[in-house]
Amino acid sequence: MNISALKRELDGMKIEDNPAIAQQKSRDFYWYSPVLKRQLENVTADLVVSPKNQAEVVRVLAACHRLGIPVTPRGAGTGNYGQAMPLSGGVVLSLAEMSEITTIASGRVICGPGAILADIDRATRTHSGQELRLHPSTYNTASIGGFIAGGSGGVGSINFGGLRDFGNVIRLRVVTMEAEPKVLDLTGEDLHKVTHAYGTNGIIVEVEMPLTASYDWIDVIVGFDSFMGAARYGNALGCQDGLLTKLITPIAAPVPQDYFKRHQRFFRSGQSICLVMVAPHSLDAFLAFTRREGGEVVMNAASMSEEEKKGLPPTFELAWNHTTLRALRVDPAMTYLQSLYPFPNQLALVEKMDAMFPGEVFSHLEFVRFDGNITCFGLPLVKFTTEERLDEIIRLHEENGCPIFNPHRYTLEEGGMKQTDDIQLAFKREADPQGLLNPGKMIAWENPDYDYRSGKTFLFKGLQRAG
Ligand SMILES: Cc1cc2nc3c(=O)[nH]c(=O)nc-3n(C[C@H](O)[C@H](O)[C@H](O)COP(=O)(O)OP(=O)(O)OC[C@H]3O[C@@H](n4cnc5c(N)ncnc54)[C@H](O)[C@@H]3O)c2cc1C
Repeated sequence: MNISALKRELDGMKIEDNPAIAQQKSRDFYWYSPVLKRQLENVTADLVVSPKNQAEVVRVLAACHRLGIPVTPRGAGTGNYGQAMPLSGGVVLSLAEMSEITTIASGRVICGPGAILADIDRATRTHSGQELRLHPSTYNTASIGGFIAGGSGGVGSINFGGLRDFGNVIRLRVVTMEAEPKVLDLTGEDLHKVTHAYGTNGIIVEVEMPLTASYDWIDVIVGFDSFMGAARYGNALGCQDGLLTKLITPIAAPVPQDYFKRHQRFFRSGQSICLVMVAPHSLDAFLAFTRREGGEVVMNAASMSEEEKKGLPPTFELAWNHTTLRALRVDPAMTYLQSLYPFPNQLALVEKMDAMFPGEVFSHLEFVRFDGNITCFGLPLVKFTTEERLDEIIRLHEENGCPIFNPHRYTLEEGGMKQTDDIQLAFKREADPQGLLNPGKMIAWENPDYDYRSGKTFLFKGLQRAG
C-alpha cells in the first residue's frame, strides 16, 4: 500500500499517521464482544484523514481509488461491532469535522455527517422547539452520519419505529468511490442503499432529517415485584395512544441493583424496573395509569430537587446499549445479545426466554412501534462462559422464534438478517467497483456463495494482514 504517495496527494489536508493515534481512531466499542475482542484486537489504519468539506472527501476518495487504498469512514466510533474498524488497514476517514448545521426549518434539519446528535437537538430546540425523532443512547457522543450508517433505532422508536422505516431519514448526500467520485442525493426508496450499510458503498457528506416537537422529557422509574410485571406494564404503556413517552425499558432484577451504581438507592432488593421518559403534559395521566397497573414509582425526576438529581445520568443512559456498558463496567465477564420478540406474541416469547437461562441471561427489553404495532426488542445481558455456549443461547432463541441480530459478528449479514441485501450490494457495484470502502463488512461482496446457515463464522481474508 503506497501510503507515502497518498500523503503527497493529500498535501494540505489534515492527516495523522502517528501509530498510537491511528490505532485509537481505528477502534470502536468492539470490545463489548469477547469474540470480536479476540478477532479484531490488532486492526489498525495506516492513516487517519479528516476532511473539512465535501470537496476534500472527493479528493481523498479519488486519490485512494487511484492508489487502491481502502477507506473506512468513522463518525464518533461508538459502534458496537467493529463497524468502523479498518480490517485491511489503509485510511480511516474521520467525518467528525464536517459537523455544521446549515438549515433548520419546520419538520427538518440539514447538517454535516459529523454533527453530534445532542448538538443538533440543542440547535433545533433553541431555533424552533423541535428535536430529532429518534436517537441512540449514545446521544451525547455519536454522530448523525454514524447513526444512519451504523445504528438502527433507539430513544423515540416507541413512537417512530426504526431508522430504516420510511420517513425517518429525508435525504442523504453520498460520495462514491470511483476514479471521478460522484455526488448523489438519495431520497425515498433509494435511501435503503446506504442506511445501515456501514459505509461500505458511499460516504455520507450531508444529511436531512425529520424533526418533531421537543419536550423537557421527564425521567421516571417504575418498580415491580417480577420481571414479567415490568414487561406487561411496558407493553400496556406502549399501547396507551394518549400518553406521550419516548422510552419504555423493562429490566430484570438484579441488573439495576448490581450495575446502575448511581441509581442504586432507588431500588429494593429483587425489584425489576421499567425506565420511562414521559412528556410533561402527559405526566399526571401517566402516573394515574401506572397506579392502576400496580407499578410503584421509585424515581420521578419531576418531584426531585436539583440536589437530589445531581450526579444522576439521564435515564436513557441506563437503556438501550448503555445497560450493557454499565454491566461491563462492574463485571467484565458480561456480554449481551440483540433479539426481537415478534408481534403479536411478544409477551409470551419474553416470558419463555426469560425463564430459560436462570442466573445466566438477564432480560432487558426496549419497546418500539413497528408498522403500527407495539412490540419489543431485547438486549439481554449474558454471563459469558464460552463462545460455544453463546452460540447455543443464540440457537435456542432462534429455535423459539426470536431472531437474533448477532452483536458478536463484524459483517452486515451475520449481524442482521443473515441474507444478502440485494439493494445494498447492487449499489456497491456502482459506487465502489474496486471494493475499497470498509472492506470485509459485506459478505455478499467478498464471497457471493457464502452459506449464512452453515453455522460457521465468516472470516474475512483481508483481516489476516492485521492479525
Ligand atoms: C453505550 C452504547 C449505546 C448504544 N446505543 C445504541 C442505540 O440506542 N441505538 C443504536 O442504533 N445504536 C446504539 N449504539 C451503537 C452506536 O452508538 C450507534 O450506532 C451510533 O449512532 C454510532 O454513531 P458513531 O458516530 O459513533 O458512528 P461510528 O461508530 O463512527 O460508525 C458507525 C458505522 O457507520 C459508518 N460511518 C460513519 N460515518 C459515516 C459516514 N459519514 N458515511 C458513511 N458511513 C459512515 C462507519 O464506518 C461504521 O460502519 C450504542 C453503542 C454504545 C457503545
